[in-house]
Amino acid sequence: MTRRATKIVATLGPASSDPALLEQMIRAGVSVVRLNFSHGTAQDHIDRARLVREAAARAGCEVGIMADLQGPKIRVGKFAGNKVLLQNGQKFVLDASRAEPGDGNAVGLDYKELPQDVKVGDVLLLADGLIVMEVEAVKGQAVHCKVVQGGELSNNKGINKKGGGLTAPALTAKDMEDIKTAMSFQADYVAVSFPQNAADMELARRLCNVAAAEYKHKPHLIAKIERAEAIPNLEEILRASDSIMVARGDLAIEVGNAAVPALQKRMIKLARAMDKTVITATHMMESMIHNPMPTRAEVSDVANAVLDGSDAVMTSAETASGKFPLETVNEMAAICLAAEGAEEVKLDADFSGMTFARIDQSIAMGALFTAYHLGAKALVALTDSGSTALWMSRHRIHIPIYALTPRVTTQRKMTLYRNVTPLLMDTSADRDTALEQAERHLKARGIVQSGDIYVITCGEPMGAPGGTNMLKICRVA
Ligand code: PGA
Ligand code: MN
Repeated sequence: MTRRATKIVATLGPASSDPALLEQMIRAGVSVVRLNFSHGTAQDHIDRARLVREAAARAGCEVGIMADLQGPKIRVGKFAGNKVLLQNGQKFVLDASRAEPGDGNAVGLDYKELPQDVKVGDVLLLADGLIVMEVEAVKGQAVHCKVVQGGELSNNKGINKKGGGLTAPALTAKDMEDIKTAMSFQADYVAVSFPQNAADMELARRLCNVAAAEYKHKPHLIAKIERAEAIPNLEEILRASDSIMVARGDLAIEVGNAAVPALQKRMIKLARAMDKTVITATHMMESMIHNPMPTRAEVSDVANAVLDGSDAVMTSAETASGKFPLETVNEMAAICLAAEGAEEVKLDADFSGMTFARIDQSIAMGALFTAYHLGAKALVALTDSGSTALWMSRHRIHIPIYALTPRVTTQRKMTLYRNVTPLLMDTSADRDTALEQAERHLKARGIVQSGDIYVITCGEPMGAPGGTNMLKICRVA
């Protein structure tokens, strides 16, 4: 098996913004590019989106674009000397009313509500958990802390509260503006940072759909699971989203490092069971920011994310600001491929006790089951919305799924689906013509050859979303 099923999401940044390098990264296996709205201006993102579309066109494929909103990142203000060194045991004040730059005793806050959200005894983690403080007193707008674990604290570092409980809303005024920017270039995915519940996702979806209406576009929504409060609400968040991200960076700070691996497995399982996609993110190849080779532990982490059932694994600083962006993608692709070879297929067990209420879903599952037992070379879905391919891709099977769609927007959304190769094909003709065309397409790409069996699904009449109602088993002439 040489075709990789797991997708790679790569964060774009200064290290990967060279057009030729980006094209190479796409050729090496990047399916979705993440634009991080925590950095840069609206125009920067518009320019980057164009860069991605152009690089993909040169590479001869489509890639998805993910607009990742900053969300309510709770941060300290700036320091007079850009940073201070905090000693274990010293006192330090986080002061929402402080306007002047910070020093070794106190610093201002971007997030003015912090004093209302904390009480004596709370533990605050700064700079991704490197610095730990305990709240000793709250006096007006000032949070008086004792430094438990000191270190260097620099401008605008993030603050998390251990166990969660900061009340900042998931969508800030900046996020709402950024949604408009992202919809102006029809981002395929919008990732919402720090959602707490389904209502946060529903609000984001409404804002996206309004902003995208003039382009007749509807992005897929990704909930980044990175807040303690999101964990008990996982099911409702999933129902309100198309996808989730296991955002291990912030999540680990809120729930504790040790809880994250088990949560990752639970989230992936639940997402797949609910017909949603899932991305595993953060620190996957962290050491490759500086080194041309990952650590053994990172190799295992990526492989285990694949075995857990992730649709995609993601890079952050490795490709945004690291020294070896292309090498990172190459390494990840090789690890995914090797891990997939070790996956067990348990389709019969998956199907026991499963019921379907929908005609299109029944056809998708029928095709999957048939292809598996016949040992077909390929599973092919003629799909308008992508749902048939999504349902098929929720089960582990070593048969590749090819999704042929007439809509480029559907094609781009399917770039995230595990084990799905999305291809563009005009399906406006009658059914028999479309089926012939599909076979020519598959043969021309070397996907099937004379004598091979493949299983194909389609709907009649053609082109009606949700209209999949037939499957055909074909032997290539
Ligand atoms: P971030 O989200 O990189 O935007 O912080 C991912 C994470 O927290 O893991
Ligand atoms: Mn985060």
